[in-house]
Amino acid sequence: MDTILGGPELIDYGASLIKKGEIVAFPTETVYGLGASAYNEDAVKKIFIAKGRPQDNPLIVHISSPIDAAEIAIGIPDEAYVLWEIFSPGPLTLVLNKSNNIPDIVTAGYKTVGLRIPNNEIALSLINKSGLSLAAPSANISGRVSPTEAMHVYKDLHGRIPLIIDGGQCTIGIESTVLDLTKNIPIILRPGFITPEQIAESIGKVINHKGEIIKAESPGMKYSHYMPNCPCVSAVTTDSACELYDKNKNAIILGTNSFVESCGSRAVFRLGDNPSDCMKNIFKALRDSEELYSFIIIESFRDKHGYFALHNRLSKATKGITY
Ligand code: AMP
Ligand code: MG
Repeated sequence: MDTILGGPELIDYGASLIKKGEIVAFPTETVYGLGASAYNEDAVKKIFIAKGRPQDNPLIVHISSPIDAAEIAIGIPDEAYVLWEIFSPGPLTLVLNKSNNIPDIVTAGYKTVGLRIPNNEIALSLINKSGLSLAAPSANISGRVSPTEAMHVYKDLHGRIPLIIDGGQCTIGIESTVLDLTKNIPIILRPGFITPEQIAESIGKVINHKGEIIKAESPGMKYSHYMPNCPCVSAVTTDSACELYDKNKNAIILGTNSFVESCGSRAVFRLGDNPSDCMKNIFKALRDSEELYSFIIIESFRDKHGYFALHNRLSKATKGITY
């Protein structure tokens, strides 16, 4: 299959493919998604095949307005509308009880469904022009680093999907916060850009992904996501990063600007100097680094204030190996 890669002028074509039961890759503010009509079982099957995604990992359904939620979820609690009001469109996925309109394949057999309103003009216009809700996971081969640029999608999926719409680099660069609203107290299943404090402030309370009381993990979290193609470890100090660098051939150090400042002439990738810049850049940094280098050293973000979601992703990339 030939894969067309082009800009927003392809939105109409993309919408027509979605209506015909095809799959299309498109940008969102978090990462690129691979979408199909959430109502079409055969179309959704194509997503699992193209990605090689395990069938027991549910997909998030993307809508353009809270009004669309009533077709997809049932018994929607007031908290959902409060959160949509504050955070949507944006990087927050709400897990709600599923309606029968959505085939089981979308939710991997779960009786719940994840819903999100992406904050990206191309994504919203694809939803509106197709007149459908889009089931869409990240547009990468399963287990690989999530794509934050159209070229990342192309490298993983060309030949497997008909169309990639390029909307430039994703502005957030890390996946949405997944919040389960079907329990007595809402639970964060996957940490993300929107913090537990922001959620608690809006709806009273939430069980933090970090807290010991959390028993359920978002099903997708058990798989080995975010693995670069070469060895990847983390380092607590710049000194230990430099020591590792000197011991390994063709290495690179990824870190905040202040962390990499004193690395001398060693190869470095500056992630930024605050959590949102670092999250925006991390997947691109990993993708670029694995192509050019054979050993990746990343600053350890363990226990650094504001970096919990980033640390969560990186601990998978490094398999928790820290020097
Ligand atoms: P991806 O789009 O590839 O980033 O993956 C979607 C994430 O949302 C995975 O971690 C899923 O497990 C999670 N998710 C989607 N739907 C549900 C649901 N109904 N219940 C719990 N987690 C969900
Ligand atoms: Mg993913």
